[in-house]
Amino acid sequence: MAHPIRRSSAVRAGAAGAVVLLAAAVLPATPAVSSPAATADGARPAQHVIMFDFDGFDPRFLTGRYAGLAELPNIRALIGEGAFGVADGSYSSYSNSSRTTTATGAYPAVHRNTGYYYNQETDRGVSQERHIEPGVETIAHSLKRQDRTAAYLQWYAVQNYGATYGDPAALYTQPGGDCETRADQAIALLRGEPVNSGGTMVDPAAIPDLITVYCDDVDGVLHDGGFSDPDLPAALARVDAQIGRVREAAREAGVLDRTAFVVTADHGAREWTVPLLPEVLDRLSATGLKVQVVASSGGVPDPASEIVVVPAPRTADITLRGRADTPENARRIAGIIRGIPGIAAVRDQQDLRRLKASDKLGDLVVEPVEPYHLSTLADGAPRASHGALPEAQVPMVLSGAGIRRGVPLRNVGLVDVAATISALLGVRPPANSQGHVMRGAVERS
Ligand SMILES: [Zn+2]
Repeated sequence: MAHPIRRSSAVRAGAAGAVVLLAAAVLPATPAVSSPAATADGARPAQHVIMFDFDGFDPRFLTGRYAGLAELPNIRALIGEGAFGVADGSYSSYSNSSRTTTATGAYPAVHRNTGYYYNQETDRGVSQERHIEPGVETIAHSLKRQDRTAAYLQWYAVQNYGATYGDPAALYTQPGGDCETRADQAIALLRGEPVNSGGTMVDPAAIPDLITVYCDDVDGVLHDGGFSDPDLPAALARVDAQIGRVREAAREAGVLDRTAFVVTADHGAREWTVPLLPEVLDRLSATGLKVQVVASSGGVPDPASEIVVVPAPRTADITLRGRADTPENARRIAGIIRGIPGIAAVRDQQDLRRLKASDKLGDLVVEPVEPYHLSTLADGAPRASHGALPEAQVPMVLSGAGIRRGVPLRNVGLVDVAATISALLGVRPPANSQGHVMRGAVERS
Protein backbone atom coordinates (compact mmCIF):
# COMPACT_ATOMS: atom_id res chain seq x y z
CA MET A 1 0.00 0.00 0.00
CA ALA A 2 1.23 3.48 -0.78
CA HIS A 3 2.51 5.37 2.19
CA PRO A 4 0.97 8.82 2.63
CA ILE A 5 4.20 10.43 3.71
CA ARG A 6 6.94 9.10 1.55
CA ARG A 7 9.29 12.02 1.07
CA SER A 8 12.44 12.07 3.12
CA SER A 9 13.11 15.17 5.19
CA ALA A 10 16.10 15.93 2.94
CA VAL A 11 13.91 15.96 -0.16
CA ARG A 12 11.32 18.06 1.61
CA ALA A 13 13.91 20.59 2.73
CA GLY A 14 15.06 20.92 -0.86
CA ALA A 15 11.52 21.36 -2.08
CA ALA A 16 10.84 24.00 0.55
CA GLY A 17 13.90 25.89 -0.65
CA ALA A 18 12.59 25.73 -4.20
CA VAL A 19 9.25 27.13 -3.06
CA VAL A 20 10.97 30.10 -1.50
CA LEU A 21 12.96 30.73 -4.69
CA LEU A 22 9.83 30.56 -6.82
CA ALA A 23 8.00 32.94 -4.53
CA ALA A 24 10.94 35.34 -4.56
CA ALA A 25 11.01 35.24 -8.33
CA VAL A 26 7.33 35.92 -8.86
CA LEU A 27 6.44 38.28 -6.04
CA PRO A 28 6.38 41.94 -6.99
CA ALA A 29 8.35 44.23 -4.68
CA THR A 30 5.20 46.15 -3.81
CA PRO A 31 2.10 44.52 -2.30
CA ALA A 32 0.53 42.22 -4.86
CA VAL A 33 -2.31 43.70 -6.89
CA SER A 34 -4.37 41.67 -9.33
CA SER A 35 -3.85 42.92 -12.84
CA PRO A 36 -3.89 41.45 -16.33
CA ALA A 37 -0.23 42.43 -16.65
CA ALA A 38 0.61 39.91 -13.95
CA THR A 39 -0.57 37.16 -16.28
CA ALA A 40 0.97 38.66 -19.40
CA ASP A 41 4.45 38.81 -17.90
CA GLY A 42 4.10 35.31 -16.49
CA ALA A 43 4.27 36.35 -12.84
CA ARG A 44 1.01 34.66 -12.15
CA PRO A 45 0.23 31.41 -13.98
CA ALA A 46 -3.51 31.70 -13.29
CA GLN A 47 -5.77 34.68 -12.68
CA HIS A 48 -8.31 32.46 -10.92
CA VAL A 49 -8.28 29.06 -9.27
CA ILE A 50 -11.49 27.10 -8.73
CA MET A 51 -11.18 24.06 -6.46
CA PHE A 52 -13.75 21.32 -6.00
CA ASP A 53 -13.27 19.36 -2.78
CA PHE A 54 -15.52 16.30 -2.90
CA ASP A 55 -15.81 14.61 0.49
CA GLY A 56 -15.19 10.87 0.32
CA PHE A 57 -14.44 10.83 -3.44
CA ASP A 58 -12.38 7.64 -3.51
CA PRO A 59 -9.78 7.62 -6.32
CA ARG A 60 -11.14 4.23 -7.39
CA PHE A 61 -14.18 6.03 -8.85
CA LEU A 62 -11.75 7.18 -11.56
CA THR A 63 -9.25 4.34 -11.71
CA GLY A 64 -9.87 0.72 -10.86
CA ARG A 65 -12.54 -1.10 -8.97
CA TYR A 66 -15.37 1.45 -8.94
CA ALA A 67 -14.63 3.25 -12.22
CA GLY A 68 -17.73 1.79 -13.82
CA LEU A 69 -20.22 3.30 -11.37
CA ALA A 70 -20.49 6.66 -13.17
CA GLU A 71 -18.98 8.11 -16.33
CA LEU A 72 -17.74 11.36 -14.75
CA PRO A 73 -17.26 13.12 -18.12
CA ASN A 74 -16.42 16.52 -16.63
CA ILE A 75 -13.66 15.30 -14.31
CA ARG A 76 -12.29 13.15 -17.13
CA ALA A 77 -12.28 16.16 -19.46
CA LEU A 78 -10.21 18.11 -16.93
CA ILE A 79 -7.85 15.15 -16.58
CA GLY A 80 -7.52 14.90 -20.37
CA GLU A 81 -6.46 18.54 -20.55
CA GLY A 82 -4.36 18.61 -17.39
CA ALA A 83 -2.54 16.61 -14.76
CA PHE A 84 -3.82 13.68 -12.70
CA GLY A 85 -2.65 11.32 -10.03
CA VAL A 86 -3.70 9.43 -6.94
CA ALA A 87 -2.45 11.58 -4.07
CA ASP A 88 -1.75 10.92 -0.42
CA GLY A 89 -4.32 12.08 2.07
CA SER A 90 -3.34 12.66 5.65
CA TYR A 91 -3.40 10.49 8.78
CA SER A 92 -5.76 9.65 10.31
CA SER A 93 -8.10 9.99 7.35
CA TYR A 94 -11.02 11.77 9.02
CA SER A 95 -12.64 14.66 7.18
CA ASN A 96 -11.86 17.63 9.38
CA SER A 97 -8.27 16.65 10.00
CA SER A 98 -7.61 15.84 6.33
CA ARG A 99 -9.34 18.98 5.06
CA THR A 100 -7.32 21.03 7.55
CA THR A 101 -4.19 19.54 5.94
CA THR A 102 -5.47 20.78 2.57
CA ALA A 103 -6.28 24.22 3.99
CA THR A 104 -2.99 24.74 5.84
CA GLY A 105 -0.50 22.78 3.76
CA ALA A 106 0.67 21.32 7.08
CA TYR A 107 0.54 17.78 8.45
CA PRO A 108 -1.70 16.92 11.43
CA ALA A 109 1.45 16.85 13.61
CA VAL A 110 1.56 20.62 13.03
CA HIS A 111 -2.09 21.74 12.67
CA ARG A 112 -3.24 19.20 15.33
CA ASN A 113 -6.81 18.86 14.11
CA THR A 114 -7.54 15.32 15.27
CA GLY A 115 -10.35 12.82 14.77
CA TYR A 116 -11.69 9.99 16.94
CA TYR A 117 -9.50 10.10 20.03
CA TYR A 118 -9.59 10.49 23.79
CA ASN A 119 -8.74 14.05 24.78
CA GLN A 120 -6.85 13.77 28.06
CA GLU A 121 -7.17 17.51 28.79
CA THR A 122 -10.96 17.57 28.59
CA ASP A 123 -11.28 13.92 29.71
CA ARG A 124 -13.67 13.15 26.85
CA GLY A 125 -13.95 11.08 23.72
CA VAL A 126 -13.88 13.23 20.57
CA SER A 127 -15.29 12.43 17.14
CA GLN A 128 -14.23 15.40 15.04
CA GLU A 129 -13.28 18.91 16.03
CA ARG A 130 -12.80 22.40 14.65
CA HIS A 131 -9.27 23.22 15.70
CA ILE A 132 -6.14 24.61 14.11
CA GLU A 133 -3.09 25.15 16.25
CA PRO A 134 -2.51 28.87 16.97
CA GLY A 135 -0.04 30.42 14.53
CA VAL A 136 -0.73 27.91 11.75
CA GLU A 137 -2.16 29.79 8.78
CA THR A 138 -4.80 28.53 6.39
CA ILE A 139 -4.75 29.50 2.75
CA ALA A 140 -7.58 31.89 3.64
CA HIS A 141 -5.33 33.76 6.10
CA SER A 142 -2.46 33.72 3.65
CA LEU A 143 -4.35 34.92 0.57
CA LYS A 144 -6.03 37.72 2.48
CA ARG A 145 -2.71 38.85 3.93
CA GLN A 146 -1.29 38.97 0.38
CA ASP A 147 -4.24 40.90 -1.10
CA ARG A 148 -5.80 38.03 -2.98
CA THR A 149 -9.57 37.59 -2.84
CA ALA A 150 -11.40 34.33 -2.23
CA ALA A 151 -14.78 32.75 -1.61
CA TYR A 152 -15.07 29.48 0.29
CA LEU A 153 -18.42 27.89 -0.52
CA GLN A 154 -19.21 25.58 2.40
CA TRP A 155 -15.47 24.76 2.54
CA TYR A 156 -15.69 24.76 6.31
CA ALA A 157 -12.01 24.13 7.08
CA VAL A 158 -11.34 27.87 6.85
CA GLN A 159 -14.50 29.15 8.54
CA ASN A 160 -13.28 31.58 11.22
CA TYR A 161 -9.75 30.53 10.27
CA GLY A 162 -9.16 33.28 7.72
CA ALA A 163 -12.63 33.40 6.17
CA THR A 164 -15.84 34.74 7.70
CA TYR A 165 -19.43 35.45 6.83
CA GLY A 166 -19.82 38.84 5.18
CA ASP A 167 -16.15 39.46 4.35
CA PRO A 168 -16.09 40.16 0.60
CA ALA A 169 -12.30 39.59 0.43
CA ALA A 170 -12.30 36.24 2.29
CA LEU A 171 -15.90 35.16 2.04
CA TYR A 172 -17.32 32.12 3.80
CA THR A 173 -20.76 30.83 2.83
CA GLN A 174 -22.83 27.87 3.91
CA PRO A 175 -25.58 27.43 1.34
CA GLY A 176 -26.42 23.89 2.48
CA GLY A 177 -28.35 21.68 0.06
CA ASP A 178 -26.49 19.40 -2.30
CA CYS A 179 -23.56 20.03 -4.62
CA GLU A 180 -25.76 21.85 -7.12
CA THR A 181 -26.67 24.50 -4.51
CA ARG A 182 -22.99 25.04 -3.72
CA ALA A 183 -22.14 25.29 -7.44
CA ASP A 184 -24.97 27.82 -7.89
CA GLN A 185 -23.01 30.20 -5.67
CA ALA A 186 -19.83 29.71 -7.68
CA ILE A 187 -21.79 30.47 -10.84
CA ALA A 188 -23.30 33.59 -9.22
CA LEU A 189 -19.82 34.85 -8.31
CA LEU A 190 -18.62 34.24 -11.88
CA ARG A 191 -21.58 36.28 -13.13
CA GLY A 192 -20.83 39.11 -10.74
CA GLU A 193 -23.98 38.45 -8.72
CA PRO A 194 -24.22 38.62 -4.90
CA VAL A 195 -24.31 35.46 -2.79
CA ASN A 196 -25.88 34.73 0.58
CA SER A 197 -23.22 34.63 3.29
CA GLY A 198 -24.68 33.80 6.69
CA GLY A 199 -27.92 35.65 5.91
CA THR A 200 -26.32 38.71 4.28
CA MET A 201 -26.12 39.19 0.54
CA VAL A 202 -22.50 39.93 -0.30
CA ASP A 203 -21.35 41.24 -3.67
CA PRO A 204 -17.58 40.95 -4.16
CA ALA A 205 -16.25 43.70 -6.40
CA ALA A 206 -14.80 41.21 -8.88
CA ILE A 207 -14.60 37.47 -9.49
CA PRO A 208 -12.58 36.11 -6.52
CA ASP A 209 -9.04 34.91 -7.25
CA LEU A 210 -9.84 31.61 -5.49
CA ILE A 211 -13.21 29.88 -5.27
CA THR A 212 -13.48 26.60 -3.34
CA VAL A 213 -16.59 24.43 -3.59
CA TYR A 214 -17.20 21.77 -0.95
CA CYS A 215 -19.64 18.91 -1.64
CA ASP A 216 -20.40 15.96 0.62
CA ASP A 217 -22.97 14.17 -1.57
CA VAL A 218 -20.72 11.14 -2.20
CA ASP A 219 -19.48 10.75 1.38
CA GLY A 220 -23.03 10.79 2.72
CA VAL A 221 -24.16 7.96 0.44
CA LEU A 222 -21.05 5.89 1.19
CA HIS A 223 -21.53 6.18 4.95
CA ASP A 224 -25.18 5.14 4.60
CA GLY A 225 -24.90 2.25 2.18
CA GLY A 226 -21.35 1.62 1.01
CA PHE A 227 -20.20 1.22 -2.56
CA SER A 228 -23.28 -0.80 -3.55
CA ASP A 229 -25.75 1.88 -2.43
CA PRO A 230 -28.17 2.44 -5.34
CA ASP A 231 -27.93 6.22 -4.83
CA LEU A 232 -24.16 6.29 -5.34
CA PRO A 233 -24.05 6.59 -9.18
CA ALA A 234 -26.41 9.58 -9.08
CA ALA A 235 -24.35 11.30 -6.36
CA LEU A 236 -21.18 10.78 -8.41
CA ALA A 237 -22.87 12.10 -11.56
CA ARG A 238 -24.24 15.11 -9.65
CA VAL A 239 -20.89 16.27 -8.28
CA ASP A 240 -19.26 15.72 -11.68
CA ALA A 241 -21.97 17.74 -13.43
CA GLN A 242 -21.26 20.77 -11.23
CA ILE A 243 -17.75 20.98 -12.64
CA GLY A 244 -19.29 21.29 -16.10
CA ARG A 245 -21.74 23.97 -14.97
CA VAL A 246 -19.06 26.06 -13.26
CA ARG A 247 -16.68 25.71 -16.21
CA GLU A 248 -19.40 26.91 -18.57
CA ALA A 249 -20.04 29.90 -16.31
CA ALA A 250 -16.31 30.68 -16.36
CA ARG A 251 -16.42 30.52 -20.16
CA GLU A 252 -19.41 32.88 -20.29
CA ALA A 253 -17.63 35.26 -17.91
CA GLY A 254 -14.65 35.31 -20.28
CA VAL A 255 -12.17 33.99 -17.70
CA LEU A 256 -11.94 30.29 -18.63
CA ASP A 257 -8.53 30.59 -20.31
CA ARG A 258 -7.15 32.31 -17.21
CA THR A 259 -8.68 29.87 -14.71
CA ALA A 260 -7.03 26.78 -13.19
CA PHE A 261 -9.16 23.98 -11.79
CA VAL A 262 -8.29 21.70 -8.89
CA VAL A 263 -10.41 18.63 -8.10
CA THR A 264 -9.62 16.56 -5.03
CA ALA A 265 -11.10 14.95 -1.92
CA ASP A 266 -10.30 14.53 1.76
CA HIS A 267 -10.16 10.72 1.79
CA GLY A 268 -11.56 7.60 0.12
CA ALA A 269 -13.64 4.92 1.81
CA ARG A 270 -13.66 1.23 2.77
CA GLU A 271 -16.62 -1.04 3.41
CA TRP A 272 -17.44 -2.54 6.78
CA THR A 273 -19.94 -5.16 7.90
CA VAL A 274 -18.25 -7.60 10.32
CA PRO A 275 -17.72 -6.53 13.96
CA LEU A 276 -14.28 -7.06 15.47
CA LEU A 277 -14.45 -4.79 18.54
CA PRO A 278 -15.74 -7.51 20.92
CA GLU A 279 -12.74 -9.71 20.12
CA VAL A 280 -10.33 -6.79 20.67
CA LEU A 281 -11.95 -5.96 24.01
CA ASP A 282 -11.83 -9.63 25.12
CA ARG A 283 -8.10 -9.81 24.41
CA LEU A 284 -7.46 -6.49 26.17
CA SER A 285 -9.45 -7.58 29.23
CA ALA A 286 -7.42 -10.79 29.42
CA THR A 287 -4.38 -8.64 30.30
CA GLY A 288 -5.96 -7.96 33.72
CA LEU A 289 -5.99 -4.22 33.04
CA LYS A 290 -9.28 -2.32 33.35
CA VAL A 291 -10.60 -1.65 29.84
CA GLN A 292 -13.30 0.87 28.97
CA VAL A 293 -14.91 1.87 25.69
CA VAL A 294 -15.57 5.61 25.60
CA ALA A 295 -17.97 7.05 23.03
CA SER A 296 -16.46 9.52 20.58
CA SER A 297 -19.55 11.66 21.17
CA GLY A 298 -18.08 13.09 24.39
CA GLY A 299 -17.92 9.94 26.52
CA VAL A 300 -16.09 10.25 29.86
CA PRO A 301 -14.05 7.31 31.19
CA ASP A 302 -14.15 6.04 34.78
CA PRO A 303 -11.05 7.44 36.56
CA ALA A 304 -9.95 3.87 37.32
CA SER A 305 -9.95 2.76 33.67
CA GLU A 306 -6.46 1.87 32.48
CA ILE A 307 -7.10 1.24 28.78
CA VAL A 308 -9.42 3.79 27.15
CA VAL A 309 -10.72 2.74 23.74
CA VAL A 310 -12.45 5.23 21.41
CA PRO A 311 -14.08 3.09 18.71
CA ALA A 312 -14.91 3.98 15.12
CA PRO A 313 -15.61 1.73 12.16
CA ARG A 314 -12.15 2.05 10.64
CA THR A 315 -9.96 2.84 13.66
CA ALA A 316 -9.88 2.33 17.40
CA ASP A 317 -7.82 4.80 19.40
CA ILE A 318 -6.23 3.31 22.52
CA THR A 319 -4.90 5.38 25.43
CA LEU A 320 -3.03 3.76 28.34
CA ARG A 321 -3.46 5.41 31.73
CA GLY A 322 -2.20 5.09 35.29
CA ARG A 323 -0.05 2.02 35.98
CA ALA A 324 -0.83 0.75 32.47
CA ASP A 325 0.87 3.72 30.82
CA THR A 326 4.30 2.24 30.17
CA PRO A 327 6.24 1.57 26.94
CA GLU A 328 6.34 -2.13 27.85
CA ASN A 329 2.55 -2.26 28.06
CA ALA A 330 2.19 -0.41 24.76
CA ARG A 331 4.45 -2.99 23.07
CA ARG A 332 2.68 -5.92 24.77
CA ILE A 333 -0.82 -4.67 23.90
CA ALA A 334 0.17 -3.88 20.31
CA GLY A 335 1.46 -7.44 19.99
CA ILE A 336 -1.74 -8.91 21.42
CA ILE A 337 -3.97 -6.95 19.04
CA ARG A 338 -1.76 -7.67 16.01
CA GLY A 339 -2.38 -11.36 16.68
CA ILE A 340 -6.15 -11.04 16.11
CA PRO A 341 -7.28 -12.25 12.67
CA GLY A 342 -8.88 -9.32 10.82
CA ILE A 343 -6.51 -6.69 12.22
CA ALA A 344 -4.55 -4.91 9.48
CA ALA A 345 -2.29 -2.73 11.60
CA VAL A 346 -1.61 -1.43 15.08
CA ARG A 347 0.16 1.91 14.79
CA ASP A 348 2.42 2.73 17.71
CA GLN A 349 4.05 6.05 18.64
CA GLN A 350 6.90 5.53 16.20
CA ASP A 351 4.47 4.78 13.36
CA LEU A 352 2.33 7.79 14.20
CA ARG A 353 5.35 10.12 14.22
CA ARG A 354 6.47 8.71 10.87
CA LEU A 355 2.96 9.37 9.48
CA LYS A 356 3.16 12.95 10.83
CA ALA A 357 -0.07 12.28 12.70
CA SER A 358 -1.40 14.49 15.49
CA ASP A 359 0.17 13.90 18.90
CA LYS A 360 -3.36 14.06 20.34
CA LEU A 361 -4.02 10.51 19.12
CA GLY A 362 -3.63 7.80 21.77
CA ASP A 363 -0.73 5.42 22.41
CA LEU A 364 -1.96 3.02 19.72
CA VAL A 365 -4.30 3.25 16.74
CA VAL A 366 -5.81 -0.03 15.55
CA GLU A 367 -7.00 -0.60 11.96
CA PRO A 368 -9.03 -3.58 10.75
CA VAL A 369 -8.94 -5.31 7.37
CA GLU A 370 -11.97 -4.58 5.16
CA PRO A 371 -14.83 -5.56 5.85
CA TYR A 372 -14.13 -5.87 9.60
CA HIS A 373 -14.93 -2.89 11.77
CA LEU A 374 -14.28 -1.57 15.27
CA SER A 375 -17.60 0.22 15.72
CA THR A 376 -20.05 -0.66 18.50
CA LEU A 377 -22.75 -0.77 15.81
CA ALA A 378 -23.18 -4.40 14.77
CA ASP A 379 -26.26 -4.75 12.56
CA GLY A 380 -24.26 -6.10 9.61
CA ALA A 381 -25.68 -3.58 7.15
CA PRO A 382 -23.27 -2.63 4.34
CA ARG A 383 -21.70 0.76 4.95
CA ALA A 384 -18.42 2.47 4.12
CA SER A 385 -16.23 4.68 6.23
CA HIS A 386 -12.69 6.02 6.57
CA GLY A 387 -10.04 6.98 9.09
CA ALA A 388 -7.39 4.32 8.43
CA LEU A 389 -4.36 4.46 6.13
CA PRO A 390 -5.70 2.62 3.03
CA GLU A 391 -8.39 5.28 2.53
CA ALA A 392 -5.85 8.11 2.97
CA GLN A 393 -5.73 8.25 -0.83
CA VAL A 394 -7.46 10.86 -2.97
CA PRO A 395 -7.72 11.86 -6.62
CA MET A 396 -5.72 14.95 -7.57
CA VAL A 397 -6.68 16.78 -10.75
CA LEU A 398 -5.03 20.02 -11.90
CA SER A 399 -6.21 21.51 -15.16
CA GLY A 400 -6.50 24.80 -17.03
CA ALA A 401 -4.47 28.00 -16.85
CA GLY A 402 -0.87 27.44 -15.81
CA ILE A 403 -1.15 23.64 -15.80
CA ARG A 404 0.77 21.38 -18.17
CA ARG A 405 -1.24 18.85 -20.14
CA GLY A 406 -0.80 15.11 -19.69
CA VAL A 407 1.44 15.23 -16.63
CA PRO A 408 1.16 12.27 -14.26
CA LEU A 409 1.16 13.52 -10.68
CA ARG A 410 3.44 11.37 -8.50
CA ASN A 411 4.44 11.72 -4.87
CA VAL A 412 1.94 14.47 -4.24
CA GLY A 413 -0.49 14.86 -1.39
CA LEU A 414 -3.16 17.04 0.17
CA VAL A 415 -0.33 18.78 2.01
CA ASP A 416 0.83 20.18 -1.37
CA VAL A 417 -2.49 21.77 -2.40
CA ALA A 418 -2.07 25.09 -0.56
CA ALA A 419 1.45 25.63 -1.93
CA THR A 420 0.28 24.78 -5.45
CA ILE A 421 -2.70 27.13 -5.40
CA SER A 422 -0.46 29.85 -3.95
CA ALA A 423 2.06 29.39 -6.77
CA LEU A 424 -0.71 29.53 -9.38
CA LEU A 425 -1.89 32.83 -7.92
CA GLY A 426 1.67 34.17 -7.57
CA VAL A 427 1.80 34.40 -3.79
CA ARG A 428 3.67 32.70 -0.95
CA PRO A 429 2.14 29.61 0.68
CA PRO A 430 0.57 29.83 4.14
CA ALA A 431 2.96 30.26 7.07
CA ASN A 432 3.92 26.81 8.42
CA SER A 433 2.97 25.17 5.11
CA GLN A 434 5.07 22.00 4.74
CA GLY A 435 3.93 20.95 1.27
CA HIS A 436 5.52 21.88 -2.01
CA VAL A 437 4.30 23.08 -5.38
CA MET A 438 3.27 20.20 -7.66
CA ARG A 439 6.02 21.51 -9.83
CA GLY A 440 5.94 19.20 -12.81
CA ALA A 441 2.35 20.18 -13.43
CA VAL A 442 2.60 23.93 -12.90
CA GLU A 443 4.08 25.93 -15.79
CA ARG A 444 7.15 27.89 -14.79
CA SER A 445 6.52 31.58 -14.79
ZN1 LIG B 1 -14.74 13.33 4.66
